[in-house]
Amino acid sequence: MMAVTTPELKGVLKFDEPMSRHTSWRVGGPADHYYEPADIEDLANYLRQLPEQEPVMMIGLGSNLLVRDRGIRGSVICPAGLLDGFEIQNGKVLRVEAGVPCAIVAKRCAKEGFTGLEFLAGIPGTVGGALAMNAGAFGGETWPLVKKVETLDRHGVFHLRDADEYLVGYRSVIGPEAGKLQEWFVAAHFVLEKGDGEKSLKRIKTLLAERSKKQPMGVPSCGSVFRNPKGDHAARLIEACGLKGFRVGNAQVSEKHANFIINLGEASAADIEKLILLVAERVRQEHGVSLESEVRIVGDG
Ligand SMILES: Cc1cc2nc3c(=O)[nH]c(=O)nc-3n(C[C@H](O)[C@H](O)[C@H](O)COP(=O)(O)OP(=O)(O)OC[C@H]3O[C@@H](n4cnc5c(N)ncnc54)[C@H](O)[C@@H]3O)c2cc1C
Repeated sequence: MMAVTTPELKGVLKFDEPMSRHTSWRVGGPADHYYEPADIEDLANYLRQLPEQEPVMMIGLGSNLLVRDRGIRGSVICPAGLLDGFEIQNGKVLRVEAGVPCAIVAKRCAKEGFTGLEFLAGIPGTVGGALAMNAGAFGGETWPLVKKVETLDRHGVFHLRDADEYLVGYRSVIGPEAGKLQEWFVAAHFVLEKGDGEKSLKRIKTLLAERSKKQPMGVPSCGSVFRNPKGDHAARLIEACGLKGFRVGNAQVSEKHANFIINLGEASAADIEKLILLVAERVRQEHGVSLESEVRIVGDG
């Protein structure tokens, strides 16, 4: 493993970087190339100088990612904490860059007296990840508040896009680039609504307390593994199969929340993936429901 700073680029390029360092499950083999851009322009320069055939993946805080044990071929780009611009424009719009953690967006907006983004407080990812996933919690979702997004494409070309260019659903976002040149989010413009800062901060506290009552905290996980099927809860179906506490190696269905899989210590990505498949199969057999993974599974196994 080695890290270099090339003279043309301002960021840091690492080789064979273990993805277990960058995923909340703490598993995942090496990325061939792992780039930490200095800013948006630098990220565009990195994309421009890549060979045409190099696969590229953008990640945030890896809180919705299962990276398989043999890792990721090509380049993984991580702007978390690096693309960190945060600017309230005319008291009406928040322009925030993709690497800013959701929790910071929620707290800063509340402190500035804006309401609507409190639900982001408990989502342990970045703005980029929240845009890609249409992350949501406690009745709030990311995209209804998005006015525009800034993206970079595979050739490092910048685009400013309207929210209505995207087809957005439950944990699903399809962009106008789908099936064409790949694009990644580098910033979002959120519409802000004036609120009461004290109330928003209180609401954040309540939402975080709710979470820690229901979800396993402080153990490696990826949050909810499966999307909720229409009109039901994946956790209810899994629990009804008696799968709470069920293990494959050191991957375990959480005793506290059946839609969470936790890494008890030295789990491999293969253990987790096997457990995901086993749980889905049991739910299919016992309830006739096909659960779909919310977690993105990537890389070579
Ligand atoms: C304890 C826990 C609780 C959670 N609770 C919730 C919850 O309440 N609600 C919820 O919705 N999710 C929840 N999650 C899941 C996760 O936090 C969200 O999906 C989050 O939005 C992922 O953000 P990330 O930055 O970590 O993205 P990553 O996990 O790094 O990436 C997720 C996907 O987004 C893509 N992506 C990331 N950044 C970009 C970008 N800049 N441009 C384009 N694509 C990009 C990646 O390629 C990948 O496909 C939880 C996770 C954990 C661990």
